[in-house]
Amino acid sequence: MRYYNTNNPEHYVTLEQAVMQGRAPDGGLFLPQGIPQLPTAFIQNMAMMSLQEISYAVANFALQGDVDSQVLKRMIDDTLCFDIPLVEVASRRYALELYHGPTMSFKDVGARFMGQLLSYFATKHNKEVTVLVATSGNSGGAVANGFYGRPGVKVVVLYPQDALDNLQEAQFATLGDNVIAIEVNGSLDDCRAMITSAFADAELRESIALTSARSINIARLLPQMFYYFYAVAQLQRRGCDVSQVVFSVPCGNLGNLTAGVMAKRMGLPIKRFIAADNANDIFTHYLATGKFEPREAVPTIASAIDIGNPRNFARIQSLYAGSYDAIVRDIQGMALSDEEISRAIKHLWRKYSYLTDPHGATALEILDRNLAPGETGVALATAHPAKYADAVENALEQMIPVPDALLQFLRGTRNVVSMNSGYASLRRFLLSK
Ligand SMILES: *Cc1c(COP(=O)(O)O)cnc(C)c1O
Repeated sequence: MRYYNTNNPEHYVTLEQAVMQGRAPDGGLFLPQGIPQLPTAFIQNMAMMSLQEISYAVANFALQGDVDSQVLKRMIDDTLCFDIPLVEVASRRYALELYHGPTMSFKDVGARFMGQLLSYFATKHNKEVTVLVATSGNSGGAVANGFYGRPGVKVVVLYPQDALDNLQEAQFATLGDNVIAIEVNGSLDDCRAMITSAFADAELRESIALTSARSINIARLLPQMFYYFYAVAQLQRRGCDVSQVVFSVPCGNLGNLTAGVMAKRMGLPIKRFIAADNANDIFTHYLATGKFEPREAVPTIASAIDIGNPRNFARIQSLYAGSYDAIVRDIQGMALSDEEISRAIKHLWRKYSYLTDPHGATALEILDRNLAPGETGVALATAHPAKYADAVENALEQMIPVPDALLQFLRGTRNVVSMNSGYASLRRFLLSK
């Protein structure tokens, strides 16, 4: 399969180049050049298949031989070492729980798959690649765990000092081995600027192969298609009418939504999508007006989607050949205030005994408000409620339990390098390793 650059559709790269580069030199994003359609027989037989079987079939089809089949099978089994259950919350309304992986957010799926692809390409050429990540929460933990122990890959996580809670920090700072945690005496923007400088440093890049693990990497998007298929398979198993399936997706950088659109292109019956926003409603605003107007993000209780300039917007546009009319035929959107999100968390718990995090609650509430008669709705629940315990406990006015899988991280030994902000320190550190 060839991958084209959204800024310059005549520019093609291989899967390996797309994964290694992350984004094109001109800032464009990579997308598969012709998305293959799965045979209808496959869709009809999905009900009998496991998550791993469905994912392997979809991946083999989408990658078109770019990764050896046996290797790909191992990658899929390792990526999806946890279940992605579809839970019925209310009549015709389901939550797809994407958070049963090691760091309990849906980012585990993309990060684990990318870790393996990167390791596969690096070891194939006997190289070592260094992955630089800046994080203020979920992505650092998911990437570090997804890449942990993988041959040929080193991960350097930069994060602002004192900005993360102990649990967030522990998810990457207690791993050791090929994962290095650096707390920076500065802000998240300082961390990002240090990484940007490293990428622009031609001399450094002659001695170290650098790559980024940002969600714009196609390797993180591809595996996110799998669970859309698995959700429909689980509906089939329950005997639902799958011609009327609507997905409600909490939207940050729009990676999850882009993966859903790609799954639909591959032939998965999805009637439409609902984009669920918080007060950072840049995409919802676009759907309502046709104007894409990025702006500074404001903090909300659904903080993982506090994004002011959704990066995958370029992919959504490209997938619909730039047609606003085509986009709004498939995707509708709505935004909730913090107060509405909080009320939704409480309502879901009181009325349905369903405990969910602020992002899942946003998607479920917006689904509820928009589902038409005859439709079946699936909301993506992207994080375990305990990852956003403050917001959930405030909404419920009671404490919630933290699962042992998360507490485990706190039992490890914290191993952190402290660094001043500014590129010089990072450069010195990278060259000394
Ligand atoms: C990253 C994240 C999102 C947003 O996903 P995108 O693919 O960036 O739109 C939603 N929920 C949670 C919990 C996240 O960590």
